[in-house]
Amino acid sequence: MEVKSFVFSPFSENTYVLYDETKEAVIIDPGCLSQAEKMKLKGFITENQLTVKALLLTHAHLDHVFGAAYVKRTFGVEMYMHPNEKVILDDVELRCKTWGIEGYEPVEADKYFDEGDTFKFGNSSLDIVFVPGHAPGHVAFISHKDRFIIGGDCLFSRSIGRTDFPYCSHEDLLNSIRTKFFALPEDYVVYAGHMQPTIIGEEKKYNPFLK
Ligand SMILES: [Zn+2]
Repeated sequence: MEVKSFVFSPFSENTYVLYDETKEAVIIDPGCLSQAEKMKLKGFITENQLTVKALLLTHAHLDHVFGAAYVKRTFGVEMYMHPNEKVILDDVELRCKTWGIEGYEPVEADKYFDEGDTFKFGNSSLDIVFVPGHAPGHVAFISHKDRFIIGGDCLFSRSIGRTDFPYCSHEDLLNSIRTKFFALPEDYVVYAGHMQPTIIGEEKKYNPFLK
C-alpha cells in the first residue's frame, strides 16, 4: 500500500491518500480548505488514475473535516466515522464561525465504524481500533501487511494530542496510546494528524508524555 500525505489549512493538518496496485484508494481526514488545496488533492487522484472508494475519518475535529463535503461530492463516496464523533461533527459549523474560518461546508457521516471492524479496498485492508481520549470516538487504522498505523491526533513525534477541548479525556488518551499504539511492534510507522511520521519504538523510548 502507498501512503501519500498532504499538509493542508492553517492548522497544518495531514490528509492521507492510501492506495495499492489495484489503483483503488481511500482518503483519510480531508483537511483541504482552500480551492487550491482541494485542486491539489483532486489532481493527485486524477494523475495517478485512482478510484476513491471511501472517505474515512480518524475523528471529526474541524481541521480534519474541512474538505469532507467536497470529497464526498467530487468522488461520490460515503463517509465513515465512529458514532461517538457525531457530537463533534455537529459542532464544527459553529466552531468555524467562532474561529472566523470561512469555507467549511457541513457534512454528515453515512456509515459508522465499530472497534474490531476491518475496512477493505483493492487488495488492502485496514484494521479499525478505538482510541478515545483526544476525541470521544477517535479511531486509528492499522495495516499489519505494511506495518503502519494512521493514528490521527493521539500520538505525535515526541508529543501527544491535546485534551483541552470539549469531550476530551487525558486519562483515556494515555490509556489508548499505551494499550493500542504501544501494543504494536516497535518498527511500525505512525502517520499522525499533524507533523512528520514517527516510529512506535522511538516514541516508547523518547516521548516525554509517556514516561
Ligand atoms: Zn483533533
